[in-house]
Amino acid sequence: MRKTFIALAAALLASPAWSNTLIDHINGIQVGRGGELQHFDRLLIGDDGKVIRTLTGLDGERLNVQKRIDGGGRTLLPGLIDAHGHVMDLGFAALRLDLAGTSSLADLQQRLRDYAATHPDAKWIIGFGWNQELWPEKRFPTAADLDAVVADRPVVLERVDGHAVVANSVALKAAGVTAATQAPTGGRIENGLFVDAARNLIDPSIPKSTHAEMDRALAKAQEILLGFGVTGVGSMSTSLADWAAFRRAADSGRLQVRLMTYMTASDAAQSGQRPTGWLYADRLRLVGVKLFADGALGSRGAWLKQPYADKPDTRGLQFHSDAEMMNLANQAAAVGFQIATHAIGDAANAQVITVYETLSKKYGKDRRWRIEHFQIVDPADIPRLAPAGIIASMQPTHQTSDRLMAEKRLGPDRLKGTYAWQTVLKSGARLAFGTDFPVESPNPFPGLSAAISRQDVNGQPPGGWIPEERLTFAQALDAYTRGAAYAGFAEDKVGSLEPGKWADFILVDRDPTVAGAQSLARIKVLQTWIAGQKVFDREASASPPERGK
Ligand SMILES: [Zn+2]
Repeated sequence: MRKTFIALAAALLASPAWSNTLIDHINGIQVGRGGELQHFDRLLIGDDGKVIRTLTGLDGERLNVQKRIDGGGRTLLPGLIDAHGHVMDLGFAALRLDLAGTSSLADLQQRLRDYAATHPDAKWIIGFGWNQELWPEKRFPTAADLDAVVADRPVVLERVDGHAVVANSVALKAAGVTAATQAPTGGRIENGLFVDAARNLIDPSIPKSTHAEMDRALAKAQEILLGFGVTGVGSMSTSLADWAAFRRAADSGRLQVRLMTYMTASDAAQSGQRPTGWLYADRLRLVGVKLFADGALGSRGAWLKQPYADKPDTRGLQFHSDAEMMNLANQAAAVGFQIATHAIGDAANAQVITVYETLSKKYGKDRRWRIEHFQIVDPADIPRLAPAGIIASMQPTHQTSDRLMAEKRLGPDRLKGTYAWQTVLKSGARLAFGTDFPVESPNPFPGLSAAISRQDVNGQPPGGWIPEERLTFAQALDAYTRGAAYAGFAEDKVGSLEPGKWADFILVDRDPTVAGAQSLARIKVLQTWIAGQKVFDREASASPPERGK
């Protein structure tokens, strides 16, 4: 009896060590609690998929481990967390008519013609990703432009920022839109183009996706994300149907990427859905709601304090009165939701900051009020973030994609306070990075590169755009790991490889701390691991991720 007890006790003591996995011979890099870069040589993982510890030098040479994996000297980083992405849209964009990178209106028309010819059974043609700013025409497409190519069935094509769609005449008819139709407040209609709130006139007539289509889109999105080393996402503007798709995937063990989910305010209000704790071994959580204060800069929907430099008769679109905005945010906060509000223009940002200042007095500071994008901000408003506990959730590749447009829209004298990462950090506020995929590619490395250089992947412009807003690599990686985890109330689970956190990590093809900015942008992810399990292996993968080279 006593002997059995001792043997059992010995087995229990031995078992944790016996089932450990040691990832050996690695160039481990992460950001420490104080924001400093940490280096380590080995990573010890328990069979529960959590980190036991990182090791350096001769530490733990004589560890008794069950499994030893040779990292081959390659660089290991914590899994990257995209604080703001659209998971279902990413999957659908990859499965539907892809208009990303179209170089002219004629190019869009050609892709539409090809797609229509190869998809004769598609009742509606739905596409995504055009950007007229990249075309020589610089004008928005019209219903007539689409009619010239497809006139026998409805066509709806969404702009890359998701803030405008253009429809052909068959789609307009299906939606009951005529020349007499008026745009609602916060929206605009122009020759078959529907901007912001006007989308509500056309969107309801687009057939809903089936469960099977949604499941396929989610699987595709995860495949793309894991290939880019993204192990967690702040999943924005999630509908009830999207939430159901996430749960279906998790129920059947197909949800790999961790999703911190923000539901659309209308779906949250209509369904009475409440925030959840972590579900499915920390893979899924409904943490907040997403609100909108304005539109986007490309379609001049961003709400500015002063008129647009290139269209002086407008200051953009104010979505809500101050009282409405306060009401929407307060309703969601009262039932425990975190609030993430889209604000691009300086007027929109000032309005949201004022709302959050009031709410932070009412609900206390650790509600982690988020502003999504925080692109164009009056420098006088930036110091208001930290005292109210407001997080700036920003996308470095928006800066490189939008800088020329921002110069046109704002003129030269209003650029201070645009994409102002270093100023945000210096003010004492927290920063979380992401891409807003599929608006931008979900590939985090061009973003990390832009963050340290204020240059695009081709090194433009020389010296960087407003270079004083550059970050150090440690600051940039922090915003993409710890910062993004913090922004989703996940910093006790992920964002760093510390004891008790999930072993979510990636192996990459070069050391980002010694790579120049352009080399950093071209880093390839070799392997992606979640909870100590390998979920992507470039060598084993027949088709590496295709979006966003
Ligand atoms: Zn977004």
